[in-house]
Amino acid sequence: LFEPQDFVAEQQAVIQGRRLQHLLQTHNAEPGQQFRAGVLNSMVGQAELLNISSDQALFHLSLDSIPPEKLPITLILALPRPKMLRRILQTVASMGVARLILVNSFRVEKSFWQTPFLQPEAVHEQLVLGLEQAKDTVLPEVMLEKRFKPFVEDRLAALSQNSVKLVAHPGNYAACPRALTEPVTLAIGPEGGWIEYEVDKLQQAGFTPVQLGERILRVEVAVTALLARLF
Ligand code: SAM
Repeated sequence: LFEPQDFVAEQQAVIQGRRLQHLLQTHNAEPGQQFRAGVLNSMVGQAELLNISSDQALFHLSLDSIPPEKLPITLILALPRPKMLRRILQTVASMGVARLILVNSFRVEKSFWQTPFLQPEAVHEQLVLGLEQAKDTVLPEVMLEKRFKPFVEDRLAALSQNSVKLVAHPGNYAACPRALTEPVTLAIGPEGGWIEYEVDKLQQAGFTPVQLGERILRVEVAVTALLARLF
């Protein structure tokens, strides 16, 4: 995945660092080799390797198609612990989520909000890793909501307008629907689960509690399982 700052001429771009190491180590890259590539928030196509050294690789880009469409989903996720957050950012980007809202909830540890992994550059880095994995180029929108009640009461209605609204919550609820074609807003809780007050607030905002069966899944597994089931 090329970013605007990689360009040295109209169709030529240079990579260094992590991406260069990946090319050298896993692709045995040689001049003339073709790669599927894309430009951040732009088109996808082919990149021909023109030359490569231990410092940098120069590519000629021919971009001719649009990236895969985003899943029409807003994922509301109680902020996970930092290590899990990094993996989930990659997962969310690689699965094509359009918008991720990281929210506070009673069972989110306060210290999680202090992690350097929430800095915009760190979030960007993990999202790009996910996009590279999926051969996608379009970044999901990421929002942070540190106060649950004002978020649900004041902002959620506009953000979830005209979508199916679901809150994943283990218990005696309807089974999570499958293979939807309409937009979805889905709320997934923290490691300790949503508290009843939060589920009530989400229900007042029009959300239906749904469950995925008796097995309680880790947050990152629940994210993947729910997305795969819904679309
Ligand atoms: N003990 C917690 C509870 O009962 O809510 C478990 C929380 S689970 C580790 C983290 C989040 O993943 C939950 O808040 C929910 O959103 C989602 N989740 C995990 N397993 C689920 C299931 N079987 N049904 C519905 N949601 C699930």
